[in-house]
Amino acid sequence: METFIRLATALGIFLMMIGWEYLSPRRQLLVGRKQRWPVNIGLAAFNMIIMRLSIGAAGYLSAVDASERGFGLLNGLALPHGLGFTVTLLALDFAIYWQHVFSHKWPPLWRLHQVHHTDPAFDATTAVRFHPLEILLSMGYKIVCIYLLGAVPEAVIAFEIILNGAATFNHSNVAIPVRFDSKLRWLFITPDMHRIHHSVLRSETDSNYGFSISCWDRLFGTYVDNPKDGQTAMMIGLKPFRQQSELGFLQLLALPFKALRKR
Ligand SMILES: [Zn+2]
Repeated sequence: METFIRLATALGIFLMMIGWEYLSPRRQLLVGRKQRWPVNIGLAAFNMIIMRLSIGAAGYLSAVDASERGFGLLNGLALPHGLGFTVTLLALDFAIYWQHVFSHKWPPLWRLHQVHHTDPAFDATTAVRFHPLEILLSMGYKIVCIYLLGAVPEAVIAFEIILNGAATFNHSNVAIPVRFDSKLRWLFITPDMHRIHHSVLRSETDSNYGFSISCWDRLFGTYVDNPKDGQTAMMIGLKPFRQQSELGFLQLLALPFKALRKR
């Protein structure tokens, strides 16, 4: 049931965002859907099969196990349920922010994470373009965090649903009025804010690491307000991969094991 709710919500948000992108796009896509969607959606399907076969519900089950054993910070504190739930959401989002920072700063992690950044355009399907090893590693990291925190199990499910929905939203190519966007940004990551993270300029790629809420970037000085070349003219992707035609599915799977190219 939990899996069904997660999948239905993810699919619903995805369909909503691609509909919105179609009706009101923020930018013209220079590399079209026909070229990119089979690769991005292919990776998503592949990752889903791997997760199903391995550790799909591992986060939730770890939280249940930690709570039964009384393991982790929150299980020792006996906070009211609502407070524990909120702390779990915030702490996991905080942990994922730092994972993302280290994925850019530490070359072994960048090898995997660069797959996400090689997309030469930016739309809702970019949100699912990840190397399967990065997904597995990320799940392992989350499990460690869940045990240390003694996370509230229902909040772990809520966190996954929110993270998925937020990523689909903030990767989408939708036009949101700039004034509304700047208000929304005080709390949430908007597409205009996250698009900067997909800029070819290194100083911009290494900024705006958040997934759901914008406070971590503001707090830790990684927030960039606007791209140097403007939202509609800025170049998306990674410089070494912009010259060649779109990387295919198998090339992306092999990319982390190839010589690292200088950004
Ligand atoms: Zn990144």
